[in-house]
Amino acid sequence: MIFTTRFAPSPTGPLHLGHAYSALMAHEMARAARGRFLLRIEDIDQSRARPEWEARIYDDLRWLGLDWETPVRRQSEHLDAYRQALETLWSLGLLYPCGCNRRDILAAASAPQEGGEPAVGPDGLIYPGTCRPRTPPSGQMPVDQALRLDMRRALGHLGARTLEFEETGQTPRKVSITHDDLINDTGDIVIARRDMGTSYHLSVVVDDAAQGISHVVRGQDLFDATRIHVVLQRLLGLPSPVYHHHRLIRDAAGKRLAKRDDARAIATYRDQGDTPADIRRRVGLP
Ligand code: GLU
Repeated sequence: MIFTTRFAPSPTGPLHLGHAYSALMAHEMARAARGRFLLRIEDIDQSRARPEWEARIYDDLRWLGLDWETPVRRQSEHLDAYRQALETLWSLGLLYPCGCNRRDILAAASAPQEGGEPAVGPDGLIYPGTCRPRTPPSGQMPVDQALRLDMRRALGHLGARTLEFEETGQTPRKVSITHDDLINDTGDIVIARRDMGTSYHLSVVVDDAAQGISHVVRGQDLFDATRIHVVLQRLLGLPSPVYHHHRLIRDAAGKRLAKRDDARAIATYRDQGDTPADIRRRVGLP
C-alpha cells in the first residue's frame, strides 16, 4: 500500500492558519512515507463555492511550499458517483425522504413527551425521527427531497454492535464506535441534501475510496464526523483509511479558528510580510 493522503478544502472562504497546519502536516507525512499528497476541492455547495476562492487556495498552498498531483479532484464534477452510492443505500432500504426544516426538528425534539433539551450531534440537532417510516420506502429514489439515513436500520444491516477504525493522531489507538454513539449521539443524519443531491459525508467517503486515500489527516473537530464516515464505508463496502485527527489551531483567546475568521487568513499574514517559515512557527511546526 502506498501512503496516500489528501487536503480537502472547500472554496468558500480564505484558508486560515488551521488549514495551513493541516495541509503542511499531511504533506509532510506523505513525504516522510514516500507517499502521495492529493488536493481535493470540496465544492458541492455551489451556492457558496467561488472560483476566486479556489484560485486563492492554490496560491496560498504553493506559497507555503506545497506541491500536489494534478488533475485536482473537484467534487462538483463527480455528482454521478455520489448519486450511485445513494442509489445503493436506497436499494438497501436504509434511506428515507425528509421534509423537516430546523424549526420542525426543534419543535419535535423539544415536545414535552421527549423531555429535556434537544440533543446535538455532529450535524446539529439530532433528528427526532418525524419522517422515519416503519417499513423502508419502496420504488424510485426521490431526487427532489432530502434523504436521511435510518441509523438503526443501517446498524441492523451491518449486524455489528461496534465498528472500529484506526487512529494515529494525538492518542494512537483503535477507536470503537458503539451502537449508542450512533443511535443517541448521531442519529438519522441527512445523507443527501435537497439542493445538492449529496452531502459532505457521502461525498467525502466516495472520494476517499475513489482516490485510494490510505490516511486521512484532519482536525479534531471532525472526529465525530469520522464515525459517520466509517458507517458509510461499511454500508458501501469501501475500505476505511487510517485517521489522524490533529490538534486545532486556536486564537490568543483559545477559540477555534473559523472559516470566516479573515483576520487569521494566510493571505493576511502574507500581506503583512510573513514568510512561509513564519506561518510554520505560528502553528507550532519546526
Ligand atoms: N472540506 C472539509 C473542510 O474544509 C474537510 C474535509 C475532510 O477532511 O474530510 O472542513
